Amino acid sequence: MTDFLALAQPGVQQLSPYVPGKPVDELARELDLDPASIVKLASNENPLGPSPKALEAIRGELAELTRYPDGNGFELKSRLAARCGVQINQVTLGNGSNDILDLVARAYLAPGLNAVFSQYAFAVYPISTQAVGAQGKVVPAQDHGHDLEAMLAAIDANTRVVFIANPNNPTGTWFGPDALERFLARVPGNVLVVLDEAYIEFAEGDELPDGLKYLARYDNLLVSRTFSKAYGLAALRVGYALSSAQIADVLNRVRQPFNVNSLALAAACAALDDADYLAQSRQLNDAGMAQLEAGLRELGLSWIPSKGNFIAVDFGRDTAAINQALLRAGVIVRPVAGYGMPNFLRVSIGLPAENARFLEALAKVLSA
Ligand SMILES: *Cc1c(COP(=O)(O)O)cnc(C)c1O
Repeated sequence: MTDFLALAQPGVQQLSPYVPGKPVDELARELDLDPASIVKLASNENPLGPSPKALEAIRGELAELTRYPDGNGFELKSRLAARCGVQINQVTLGNGSNDILDLVARAYLAPGLNAVFSQYAFAVYPISTQAVGAQGKVVPAQDHGHDLEAMLAAIDANTRVVFIANPNNPTGTWFGPDALERFLARVPGNVLVVLDEAYIEFAEGDELPDGLKYLARYDNLLVSRTFSKAYGLAALRVGYALSSAQIADVLNRVRQPFNVNSLALAAACAALDDADYLAQSRQLNDAGMAQLEAGLRELGLSWIPSKGNFIAVDFGRDTAAINQALLRAGVIVRPVAGYGMPNFLRVSIGLPAENARFLEALAKVLSA
């Protein structure tokens, strides 16, 4: 038999597949549990359920399912451009923001070139990089967060892309406006900085920089955002990038013609207009974060302070057994051993009752 793994390009051979959070139905099947009794806090999903306005918009599109979607995503791009203070030709739509990361890699990376990203950074950066045969240069983290100075130092003549996430997943770590400013000012102009702001809508005040503010000054900056988290539309797969018009033009050349489907386009437009939903998402997240932190403190546990909708809990020892015990109790959280953090579990912020279920189950597991 031919070894088709050996025939895959070397970067792909060295990849491990992305491991998603365990689906509720899968755990229900495995342990013969009632799916309704299971709490999933594993994929940084919005616990609110989708915006009613998004659902209504989807219903309005159903009769048109025989047609291809608008391949240009005109309506959504127009609204995003207006919202973000850019021109419509600076917006690129993606099938989730993961698609945007892939478009960047396909357009700008190749064998012999490299992308710089941090240790503990989002798992899709190495996947997108290696999938096109480029090298990922992993820079050791500092207190689990990005060491932007060390990342600058890692940039070499073959670097075409730097991926930075603010806040980062799975750590929840973040950097402030001054750090971003210093970083952008020193990155060579021919290196594309991908600032992944998947969780930016959860941030309040000015602790985190708004990447959009730097677009006018840095034409090597691309800001990626998503409807999967604060906007609660993870299943629909809609993300977007804001960049110079030229970079958007390049990404558009490699993009699949209909990468965002019509239901997703309609729902995203509606979600963008639902300010109440976004405010509620934030509020729920703030309250849930406080609830989890208080509960963890009571259990004597520590965690990495987070500005996302999740928190990485430090158990000070391997968490595989703890994770298994939580699963048996019907609570799904996310092991992050694959990120090199075997002593941590990442817990997404849920509804108050879900957070309480997790804390109760955890207390039992730890005292068993
Ligand atoms: C969740 C997440 C994304 C968004 O993924 P989508 O493809 O938009 O669902 C992007 N970056 C990071 C760091 C994330 O955690």
